[in-house]
Amino acid sequence: MNMRVGQGFDVHAFGEGNQVMLGGIAIPHTRGLVAHSDGDVLIHALCDALLGAAGLGDIGHHFPDTDPHYKGASGESLLTASLDKVTGLGWRVVNVDITVLAQVPRVAAHRPAMTANLARMLALPLDAVNVKATTTERLGFVGREEGIAVQAICLLQKSPTTG
Ligand code: MG
Repeated sequence: MNMRVGQGFDVHAFGEGNQVMLGGIAIPHTRGLVAHSDGDVLIHALCDALLGAAGLGDIGHHFPDTDPHYKGASGESLLTASLDKVTGLGWRVVNVDITVLAQVPRVAAHRPAMTANLARMLALPLDAVNVKATTTERLGFVGREEGIAVQAICLLQKSPTTG
């Protein structure tokens, strides 16, 4: 069995707005995230993990923020497009594990919704999608409430018979 691991990391700064998108779920907050797309920093990190595991570079290469086509692009559209590229090479996602680093807003209460939404988009069972959240104990840019960072990792599998 051929297997590959990939990791992704993304950061977005807080700016104007009243909600942040994480895993396709709108979480109310006193600010939004600055972005060319909808700023779903969780999905951006996850896309990089998927693309990385398949040896396909990164999200900026496939969906450049200089391209007006991707202005306001939803996380779901980017994740679906990334998944299509990965499965197009014969890979199947085994599991994903995600860590949200945020001092604010508190995202723990939204974990079940994020997990279910990501599982739906990835066509995975719930136990193959894990979302964790942590503060940084008020240290660094996350701790100063300047933005949100997300780490993601995924495992891909390809059976020899499917190429
Ligand atoms: Mg991003």
